[in-house]
Amino acid sequence: MVTIKSRVVIPLEGSQAAPEFLSFSGFTKEHIAIVFPSVTPGVTPLVRVHSECLTGDVFGSQLCDCGPQLQEAIDVFSQEGGVLLYLRQEGRGIGLYAKLSAYALQKEGLDTFEANRHLNLPEDARSFEPAAQMLKAMDISRIRLLTNNPDKASQLGDHGIEIESTIPTGVYLNPNNRRYLEAKVRHKHHTIPF
Ligand SMILES: [Zn+2]
Repeated sequence: MVTIKSRVVIPLEGSQAAPEFLSFSGFTKEHIAIVFPSVTPGVTPLVRVHSECLTGDVFGSQLCDCGPQLQEAIDVFSQEGGVLLYLRQEGRGIGLYAKLSAYALQKEGLDTFEANRHLNLPEDARSFEPAAQMLKAMDISRIRLLTNNPDKASQLGDHGIEIESTIPTGVYLNPNNRRYLEAKVRHKHHTIPF
């Protein structure tokens, strides 16, 4: 049983509404929820499930689109409110070192999924169950989901969260991440218009 452990308001640069950072009991990894105050009381919460990507989130790596997607969620939520569920499953769940090894293989021509297979790692080891567990701990059972990934919506649904609607995120293409984004569309049926 996952329960809220602590909550603390942390003002963010460039964000008018300071969100609350929530920690939880019952996880082995330190997943967190970042709750931006809703400007419209009673509206179904807008939610983004974001898996940690150190290279993209912190350093602005151009090999993926995690950094801009995270920033988009923060921008939208600081204006209208929302819940950012930040899951500590780096590199699609394979970890940072394995992700860096997979990047090295991608330089030799494999795509992100082929590279993981080459390293005998799952293509995608992520689970979105912790996201559902955090929502339940916050008494949220119905959401509007900000995503292009149909697997997130179906996994949350499987874990008892009702998805009222999905709202597509922006697509952040740069010269270095086109192959990565194309691979996501090919393997995972992401709804990304090229
Ligand atoms: Zn990334």
